[in-house]
This record gives sequence, C-alpha cells and structure tokens, in this order.
Amino acid sequence: MGYLVGEENRGLEYMFIMMNSARYAVGMQGIAIAERAYQKAVSFAKDRVQSRPVDGSIKSSLPIIHHPDIKRMLMTMRAYTEGCRAMAAVAAAAYDAAHHHPDAEVQRQNQAFYEFMVPLVKGYSTEMSQEVTSLGVQVHGGMGFIEETGAAQYYRDARILTIYEGTTAIQANDLVGRKTARDGGQTAKGIAAQIERTEAELASRDSLDARAVLKRLKLARETFIEVVEFVACQSKASPNAVFAGSVPYLMLAGNLVVGWQLARSLLVAEDLAKAGTDVAFMTAKVATARFYAEHILNKAPGIRDSIVEGAGSVTALALEAF
Ligand SMILES: Cc1cc2nc3c(=O)[nH]c(=O)nc-3n(C[C@H](O)[C@H](O)[C@H](O)COP(=O)(O)OP(=O)(O)OC[C@H]3O[C@@H](n4cnc5c(N)ncnc54)[C@H](O)[C@@H]3O)c2cc1C
Repeated sequence: MGYLVGEENRGLEYMFIMMNSARYAVGMQGIAIAERAYQKAVSFAKDRVQSRPVDGSIKSSLPIIHHPDIKRMLMTMRAYTEGCRAMAAVAAAAYDAAHHHPDAEVQRQNQAFYEFMVPLVKGYSTEMSQEVTSLGVQVHGGMGFIEETGAAQYYRDARILTIYEGTTAIQANDLVGRKTARDGGQTAKGIAAQIERTEAELASRDSLDARAVLKRLKLARETFIEVVEFVACQSKASPNAVFAGSVPYLMLAGNLVVGWQLARSLLVAEDLAKAGTDVAFMTAKVATARFYAEHILNKAPGIRDSIVEGAGSVTALALEAF
C-alpha cells in the first residue's frame, strides 16, 4: 500500500529540496576533511627536519615549514579551505533569508542565490578537497604515502565526495541547465553585480593587499560574465560545445565566488586589525585572501579560454579514435 506524501505533481520539486540539502552536506564534508588535512600537514611540517634553507641563513637542517614550497602548499590548503567555508556560510545565510525574511521579493532573490550556490558548494568544495588532501600527502613526503600517518586516509575519504549525491558533472549540468540557461544568465549576472560592489569597496582602500585582490577579482568577474553569456546563448544552439565546458564553468564560478568571499573577509579583517582586534588572526586573513587571489583566482582567464575557445578539441576525436 502506498501513501501520498505532500501534493500530487510536486514530487520532483520535493525531491530537489532533499537533494539540495544532501549536496550541501557533502560539500561541508569536503571542507571538513580539507581542514583536518591542513591541520595535520601544518603539525608535520613544524616537526619534520629536512634540508638547509635556500637562503643559506643557517648551515644546518630545519623543520620543512621553513621551505618556500612547503609554505606554498600550506597556503594553498588554507586558502581553499577557508574560502570554501566562507562560501558555504554565505549560501546557508541565503537559505535562512529565503525562508525567514519578511519581504517576499528578498526571499525570492535569496532562494535563487542559494540554488545557484548549491552546485558550487557541492562541486567546487569537493573538487578542492581532492587537491587539498593530495597536498596534505605531499607535505608529508614518503610518510604521506605510508598509511600510519593518516594523511593518505584523508585523501581516500575525500575521493568519494565528488562522486556521491551526484558527480561533479551532474552538479555542472544543474548549474548550466537549471541555474544559468533557464533564466538567461540573470542570477549569475546578479551575483557578478554584487561582486562589482565588493570591487568598489576594495578600490576605496589604499592598502597594497586590497589592490592586489581587486586586480584579480575584477578580471575573474569579467571573465565569468563572458562565460555566462556563452552558456546562456549557446546552450540550445550548441549544447555539445557548452557541456564540453560544463565542469570548467562550475570550477570557474566556484573559484570566483570563493575569491569574492575572501575579498570580503579581507575588508573586514583590515578594519578589525586597524582597530587592534585579534591582529595576528586578522593579518593572516588578509594574507590568505591575497594568496588566493594571486595563486588560484588568477586561473580564471585560462578556464574561460578552455570553455569558450576549447570546446572543439574536447569533441574532435571520433569514437573509434579512443
Ligand atoms: C561509497 C558510496 C556510497 C553511496 N551511497 C549511496 C546512498 O546512500 N544512496 C544512494 O542512492 N546512492 C549511493 N551511492 C551511489 C552514488 O550516488 C552514485 O555512485 C553516483 O551518483 C554516481 O552514479 P554512478 O555510480 O551510476 O556513475 P555513472 O552515472 O555511471 O557515472 C560514471 C561517469 O559518467 C559521468 N556521467 C554520467 N552521466 C553524465 C551526464 N549526464 N553528463 C556528464 N557526465 C555524466 C559521471 O560524471 C561519471 O564520471 C553511493 C556510492 C558510493 C560509491
């Protein structure tokens, strides 16, 4: 015997409420594993002694955290993790506003924003957790590959996250179809307009950090708009070309939104540091935002080229050639 749950003909809509919640939760798993991998890598890097410093300042070996390449890996892990966490928090706040804000129009806008964010929180945060946990193994060197350290376990645990509750390609199909093409790119362009307002705030600062982040954020946002137009205009006429770049589009959108949130955190952290509040923490926030802009957000133009100009080479080979 079957029971009707809810109203007839609204099953798909109900199913997506559940799916969005599950996808968001898996994104959070990615962020949590990445955080743990980062903490473990920092602890190992402070303990493991290997090689002299490249600047010759000390003649004996030092803990590996002194080596610039180890710092590069730790900064990459930290920037991805903090940035994705900020993106997930902003998505959660939009979900709350979509349900509890007194103004119906504000509710609608927040719902559209939240729905755009779900494939990014799920897809981008879990893809980044592959990279972060892999870097965690690398920081440990040979010990990372050996199971006793636990670094490899994080890598393995993260590996399922891009697969279950819809693979990254399925998140990207959602982002292209339901979240971008369906409204002609309006929600995506609305997000770009919000990012432009953050750029204006960055431009009003005289700090070198704000300038450096502004340069990358502006370029990434302009790049994103070009890609949104390509996706919105071409998804009916050239679906193979658009879907050849669907995952890169998701990664570009995630990269931009995370860079935007870190830029916002830089603005707050600069103010608090100036006011003398928790200065070491705030200074680290600023440095992390700048690192993200200069080492991760700056990849946006290359991703745009792959999507808009590189679709032909994705599908060029005949099936027999594989
Ligand atoms: C450990 C584990 C636990 C799980 N737990 C659950 C659970 O509790 N409940 C549950 O219902 N399921 C569960 N699953 C199933 C999981 O959700 C699926 O494995 C997942 O959705 C991928 O589907 P699939 O394995 O059929 O892969 P496929 O759909 O066959 O995908 C194979 C490849 O094809 C790609 N692909 C498929 N379709 C498209 C498309 N339209 N466009 C582009 N690329 C495409 C995919 O991205 C992937 O790269 C679990 C799986 C695992 C491994």
